[in-house]
Amino acid sequence: MSHTLFISDLHLCPTRPAVNELFFHFLRAEAPKADALYILGDLFEYWIGDDDMETGLNAEVVVSLRALSDSGTPVYFMHGNRDFLIGERFAEATDIRLLADPTLVELHGKRVLLMHGDTLCADDVDYQRFRTTVRSPEWQSAFLARPLEERRKEVEEMRRRSEASKREKPMAIMDVSLSTIEAALRIFAYPPLLIHGHTHRPGRHRVELDGHECTRIVLADWNESGAKFMRLGEAGESGECD
Ligand code: MN
Repeated sequence: MSHTLFISDLHLCPTRPAVNELFFHFLRAEAPKADALYILGDLFEYWIGDDDMETGLNAEVVVSLRALSDSGTPVYFMHGNRDFLIGERFAEATDIRLLADPTLVELHGKRVLLMHGDTLCADDVDYQRFRTTVRSPEWQSAFLARPLEERRKEVEEMRRRSEASKREKPMAIMDVSLSTIEAALRIFAYPPLLIHGHTHRPGRHRVELDGHECTRIVLADWNESGAKFMRLGEAGESGECD
């Protein structure tokens, strides 16, 4: 059956080898059966630049994604808030196609809006300010010009600060804002399906808006318990988002 697969929030890193193995197995066993694979951000726990993909886990991921691309399954990648520095060199090495956030696609006769999800958390003003800074070309070129080890230390420090501030923030602030979802659906003329990740709150939500109906699917984050992917085909969607 013709179908498309969606994953996000794997947070691959050397300290979670079991999750990394689940991903490699998913790429070998499940993904080749699909028409396409969409990775909607936070594939990696962090990414400090495309000059850090020659060794270790990053090199293994490059080889595995490349094998899937070469076998004829196109792979699309949207940046998450952890791996927004993935660039053209990674895209060329893996033969993945980089997607803007948001992107509207037509799949199996349905218009589908794709996002990572962090832009939907509009009530988290501190995070949105941080995001504006780190997504600017000026910040990125200055950061990427620094030595690799310095960048690694800086990102580890940023992760520590982010973990600490998350503990102090009320949960509601870190979830999606309904008015921001509605604004996105209006801009894209009411797509019947919105798929995003980021919040680690997998689920399926119905949004009724201006006389239109939309289903918002939140993809699951990955952990040791198994591969979490969503499948979309002619008959609808199924998978690990309930
Ligand atoms: Mn995220």
